[in-house]
Amino acid sequence: MRFHTVIVGGGLSGLVAGVTLARTGKRVAIVSSGQSSLHFNGGSLELLGALPDGTAVQRPLEAAASLPEEHPYAKIGVSRLPQLAADAAKLLATVGMPMQGDVSVNHYRLTPMGVAKPAWLTMGDYVTLERPDVLPWNNVLLVNVAGFMDFPVNFVAHGLREMGATVRVEELDVEPLAARRASATEMRAANLAKSLVSGSAVSRLASAINEVAGDNDEVVLMPAVLGLDDDHAVTMLRAQVSKPLHMVATLPPAVPGARLHTTLRHYFQMLGGTYLMGDTVQRGTFEGNRLTGVHTAKLADTVLQADNYVMAGGSFLSRGLMANYERVYEPVLDLDVTAPTDRAQWTRYGVFNQQPYMSFGVSVDRQFHALKGGEPLDNVYAVGSILGGHDPVKMGDGTGVAMLTALAVAQQIIDN
Ligand SMILES: Cc1cc2nc3c(=O)[nH]c(=O)nc-3n(C[C@H](O)[C@H](O)[C@H](O)COP(=O)(O)OP(=O)(O)OC[C@H]3O[C@@H](n4cnc5c(N)ncnc54)[C@H](O)[C@@H]3O)c2cc1C
Repeated sequence: MRFHTVIVGGGLSGLVAGVTLARTGKRVAIVSSGQSSLHFNGGSLELLGALPDGTAVQRPLEAAASLPEEHPYAKIGVSRLPQLAADAAKLLATVGMPMQGDVSVNHYRLTPMGVAKPAWLTMGDYVTLERPDVLPWNNVLLVNVAGFMDFPVNFVAHGLREMGATVRVEELDVEPLAARRASATEMRAANLAKSLVSGSAVSRLASAINEVAGDNDEVVLMPAVLGLDDDHAVTMLRAQVSKPLHMVATLPPAVPGARLHTTLRHYFQMLGGTYLMGDTVQRGTFEGNRLTGVHTAKLADTVLQADNYVMAGGSFLSRGLMANYERVYEPVLDLDVTAPTDRAQWTRYGVFNQQPYMSFGVSVDRQFHALKGGEPLDNVYAVGSILGGHDPVKMGDGTGVAMLTALAVAQQIIDN
């Protein structure tokens, strides 16, 4: 099978690259093994929340100028970031995921642990704060679904109280979810969302919220257990609840991230893109420094051939990078990886300490050509969290790097 571009990995970076290329009429295939880190995403995307030394960032575009040269933003070129960030927000709006947020200044999202973290873009139905320590409300009604353990309601209430709010907590026992409660493993956010789709189920939930809402409550906050495929159920619920209503991210599997993934994938397929779900690219064949084809686990007799290849397999969690006792490696093409050979330097004692392995990644040149044997490959690019040079956990830049490197590379491929 012949394509203009084959993308290895269908997470945020692979999908953004795929949509951007497919929109220009290119024949594009994405091969994706399984779930991506979007399935952990709580409804916000981050551009840059902190510098490598831990200094908090308020104005990400300004702060990007001081990033070290190995950071993917520095490779893109800081002057290009505003346009790429605007393109990213526009792309999300086009696919049907309009976001709130201003690229020039971070806002704050509320985590399932009740902590405010810097964010760039947040889905319209989720809590956003202008400052990390001040809430826009004095009296908050925090509701949870009876038996739902993936929303640590006491942590969230504690966090809101620390920000000065009076918080009332109520538990809702709604009939559409009773069947799920029969098994603890069924009480996951994604499963609840599947039971809260129909108009009658949503109306019952709205009635249950309205029954516990008091005159003093200015706002209702609830776990994100609606809207797996689109925002229809959330919009219905908000229209029927008597107070302003916002979602707060739950522990994974995360409904908002799954919605973003599904929306991007559907849009890519609507453009004519080929999405090979549940298949894994295992190896490639080379002629000189050009990749001529890749082989997948399921298409045993078929080689996927393309003019360009984009490696978007993610980091260790997604198996875009792997490690054994001897080395850190990229498992499909054995691309060069930036990581010390001394294994003792991969990790640091203390689980909350900055971990060196978070900054490991495939080595690229300034155009994001992947390196192999020290040489850039002509037609192989790397994007997203397979890239090193930054620590997404400590710097809050994972989704920004995913989207902006994908856009930069897709644009480069289009221009070539
Ligand atoms: C646990 C966790 C929570 C996070 N939470 C947030 C958050 O709340 N907010 C935020 O802004 N950012 C968050 N991030 C960071 C952000 O989600 C990621 O940086 C970003 O989504 C990375 O996208 P990606 O497409 O590069 O990689 P991934 O999302 O990892 O996707 C890679 C995909 O490639 C597939 N793949 C890998 N190898 C192959 C192969 N050989 N063949 C076919 N497919 C393959 C994988 O199965 C996977 O689907 C989080 C990251 C993690 C790990």
